[in-house]
Amino acid sequence: MYRPHRVLSYNFKLRHYRFRVPVDRFRQRWMLSAAKSELQGRQTMTTDSEKRTGGCLCGAVRYEIEGQIRDVIACHCTMCRKQTGHFLATADVWNEQFRLTEQSGLKWYRSSPGNRRGFCETCGSVLFFQSDGSEYICITAGTIDGKTGLRMAAHIFVADKGDYYTIDDGVDQFDGETDSVPMPERQ
Ligand SMILES: [Zn+2]
Ligand SMILES: [Zn+2]
Repeated sequence: MYRPHRVLSYNFKLRHYRFRVPVDRFRQRWMLSAAKSELQGRQTMTTDSEKRTGGCLCGAVRYEIEGQIRDVIACHCTMCRKQTGHFLATADVWNEQFRLTEQSGLKWYRSSPGNRRGFCETCGSVLFFQSDGSEYICITAGTIDGKTGLRMAAHIFVADKGDYYTIDDGVDQFDGETDSVPMPERQ
């Protein structure tokens, strides 16, 4: 009888043995570079004037942030779930501390009166949320380059969340909006 699983696991073992030394060397290099970037990340966290960068998957939208960022708020409302495919986790920045450095792919979608959502028309990355006249812009935390130094601070519109996941990270949950997460001081 042909047992494909057995054959596969045998081959894997052989391959693993043969390449064990180079893989370990590669891993050492990777760990060293990971340690270096972690150190750089920590420096970013402690220096408020540090410039942070971010952008979409393909590079057609890039931005810079100077100064502090509000901790992450996750919105579980139906519109955010539709747009992102899960939920929207954003970190907010005062308008004057935010700058687009590449916007050839940027498109805005008006999802409801007074609100617009920025995304990349080439790669589909979800990047921004902004209310008309707002003094700050909400940036999706996952598009910030490297270590963010941020933390998840609140889950909002939890009453509308999807039924296929649980929120059990110990972070405060709200059925609707909250103003419990303060914006950082303006710089
Ligand atoms: Zn893109
Ligand atoms: Zn939402």
